[in-house]
Amino acid sequence: ACGSEEPELVQNGQLALGTYSQISVYAPTTSKGEKAIEAAFTQVTTIENTLSTSIENSDVSQINLNAGTAPVQVDEMTLDVIHAGLDYYSITKGTFNIGLGSLIELWGIGQDWQKVPTDEEIQEAKQHIDLSNIEISEKEVFITDPHMLMDLGGIAKGYAVDEAVGILRSNGIESGFVNFGGDVYALGNKSDGTPWRIGIQNPEIGESGVIARMGLTDKAIVTSGDYERYFVENDVRYHHIIDPETGYPSTNEISSVTIISDKSMDADVLSTAIFILGLEKGLDLIESLEEIQGVIVTKDRSVYISSGIKNEVEMLDSNFSIVN
Ligand code: FAD
Repeated sequence: ACGSEEPELVQNGQLALGTYSQISVYAPTTSKGEKAIEAAFTQVTTIENTLSTSIENSDVSQINLNAGTAPVQVDEMTLDVIHAGLDYYSITKGTFNIGLGSLIELWGIGQDWQKVPTDEEIQEAKQHIDLSNIEISEKEVFITDPHMLMDLGGIAKGYAVDEAVGILRSNGIESGFVNFGGDVYALGNKSDGTPWRIGIQNPEIGESGVIARMGLTDKAIVTSGDYERYFVENDVRYHHIIDPETGYPSTNEISSVTIISDKSMDADVLSTAIFILGLEKGLDLIESLEEIQGVIVTKDRSVYISSGIKNEVEMLDSNFSIVN
């Protein structure tokens, strides 16, 4: 571009990864923008077809179907995401576990069969979440325990955002906004040269406003909360983030965890893990990791902000207050 023409805003969205996924870009021409977005969504579809547990011939479904029986030859992408998932287990002190499929299936949060399982069922499923049962060779993955299932729902969306951003960049896009059901990436700046302004949602059920916002450039931002995928039984709310230690949806003082990082995959995983870890350990983990920032909102409407972004978060809702 010669710099004098106004870039075109091009947007498109589709249902993908179990959510509405949207990409907006500023491109030199509409057709260049459309082409870049289409290339990104083509890759997202490939990712979904490879990593989904609800698509029967995906790599992950095949790994699960063959658990206890046979190794499955998989795509390089699958190996990459599984290796990343396994690495996160120790970083997150065992709270992020890609082998929780049996428990996730049992609870079925968001599925037709969602219900509170019996404690016996939960204790039984918990016997089958040990990651040492996942064997990986150069091209194959084998779950040795026939009752164990893999679930990449807490990591694959972040991976998909990173891949989409990479494809936009390689198509010459320098400014854009990717939002796959709340996993957001702010690519470059807005066309006026100022950072993208991203809001943090009010985590309370029935509330839809934004409680805070901050400017971001070339950063991923992901929020995990208990307010989006859940069901209520006997006045108790059961959400979709399972504490591997108990086998139940995690319970602590946290309402939502927002993580800001360079890679969406890191933010996706860490937001989930810190939601389980709780406030104190969660804040410690954020501070211990380079390049990772975060905002934790607790049920008493306190807002905790990591040291690297203290001055960048703008509060918009006076019912919530920064305490640290
Ligand atoms: P996050 O907090 O990022 O992740 C929560 C999800 O991680 C849970 O839903 C569970 O899958 C998993 N999880 C829970 N506890 C843990 C834990 N302790 N450690 C590790 N992981 C954990 N949804 C549909 O309704 N239908 C679909 O067909 C469908 N297909 C999908 C295909 C792919 C490839 C992906 C990535 C997602 C798909 N989803 C689908 C959505 C998926 O089921 C999850 O709900 C979604 O990924 C959760 O993202 P989140 O950002 O809301 O929550």
